[in-house]
Amino acid sequence: MDYQLTEEQVMIRDLARQIAREKIRPKAAEYDEKEEFPWDMMKALAKADLFGVYIEEKYGGTGGGVLELAIVTEELSCACGGIAVCFAASALGTYPIILFGNDEQKKKYLPLIAGGEKITGFALTEASAGSDASNMQTTARKEGDHYVLNGTKQWITNGGEAQVYTVIAMTDKNKGARGASAFIVEKDTPGFTFGKKEQKLGIRASATRELVFTDCKVPKENLISREGMGFIVAMKTFDASRPGVAAQAVGIAQGALDLAVDYARQRFQFGKPISSFQGIQFMLADMATQIEAARALVYAACRHVTSGAKNVAKESSMAKLFASDVCMKVTTDCVQVFGGYGYMRDYPIEKFMRDAKITQIYEGTNQIQRDVIAHHLIKESLAKK
Ligand SMILES: Cc1cc2nc3c(=O)[nH]c(=O)nc-3n(C[C@H](O)[C@H](O)[C@H](O)COP(=O)(O)OP(=O)(O)OC[C@H]3O[C@@H](n4cnc5c(N)ncnc54)[C@H](O)[C@@H]3O)c2cc1C
Repeated sequence: MDYQLTEEQVMIRDLARQIAREKIRPKAAEYDEKEEFPWDMMKALAKADLFGVYIEEKYGGTGGGVLELAIVTEELSCACGGIAVCFAASALGTYPIILFGNDEQKKKYLPLIAGGEKITGFALTEASAGSDASNMQTTARKEGDHYVLNGTKQWITNGGEAQVYTVIAMTDKNKGARGASAFIVEKDTPGFTFGKKEQKLGIRASATRELVFTDCKVPKENLISREGMGFIVAMKTFDASRPGVAAQAVGIAQGALDLAVDYARQRFQFGKPISSFQGIQFMLADMATQIEAARALVYAACRHVTSGAKNVAKESSMAKLFASDVCMKVTTDCVQVFGGYGYMRDYPIEKFMRDAKITQIYEGTNQIQRDVIAHHLIKESLAKK
């Protein structure tokens, strides 16, 4: 389908597609098996200038936005959802700086991020603060020229590998969500260490790790926006990044479907390729249709996010919700097309199903996305009265 991409967007897509096919696909299973961070893949993406696709030209990027980010993420995810998220999570960690950073912070960090010299992570979640992020316990106490951070962040993508983190911590616990603030914390800051590295069901090339802050002194210049803005920084970041998770979901689903169509042509039962059975054909047709619908919603949501519209949370959540549910259904059905072989690790399809599941969970579970959508629907309805 023609999504009326610009010449530059087509170029970015083709470049990402080439890297996905030539470099990522042949090594996806190996990275998954070893649970190893794919630094050589990150270097290939940096060399192709793809880390800068969503960063303004004046800060060293190529001047695109969330759509360009989605296009690259989708292509990489077709080959490996795990390697793709190492790339996409760096954008998640960078959006707080793009959206709320001051010029000094942008000049200091964005060119390095755009060039792929530094990758980033975003740290909001804690052991007892998942969907209810306002329950976070990590504190940032102001002391002279510094903030002193104490606490532990859990399940941070790119944890231990990224060189720069945007971290949400409480500067005033009494104020609840309004007492949270956002900080830029560099990897080698004294008092900042890494805890447990998780072993996961899917996206196993990506690192998911604890960040531990023990009297970690962060210069006051690293506060993003103002004290008390942490929650808003996080929520606006999600508005920009959720279409990226949705694009990851579209890519994983497309990658799985491509394999399933090939397999269905080659697998013979009852003397015929299984692709000749209507039962299989209908599954393939439904999957292709669902993926196309998800892609259309994702691209539309990306355009809406960059349109300057005041409120984009509903559309961003819709894209994430729909695409990730499609991804889970499609990858499960693709395993079905492979039959028993689909269940075996000798075949690449089971990995797609494992990688799919996380898209329904992170950056807000799909229950939370439905909450966001319903909340906005009700608000809009009240506003009409
Ligand atoms: C692999 C991985 C990578 C991650 N990367 C990052 C990262 O880089 N940075 C970061 O900050 N976080 C990250 N996370 C955390 C992720 O965003 C959270 O796991 C997610 O927000 C859900 O929180 P939780 O796991 O604590 O689930 P919980 O909040 O405990 O939810 C458990 C269940 O209850 C449901 N539920 C909770 N509240 C409600 C409600 N109000 N209404 C209806 N249902 C509800 C949920 O939908 C879910 O089904 C990552 C998680 C994983 C697994």
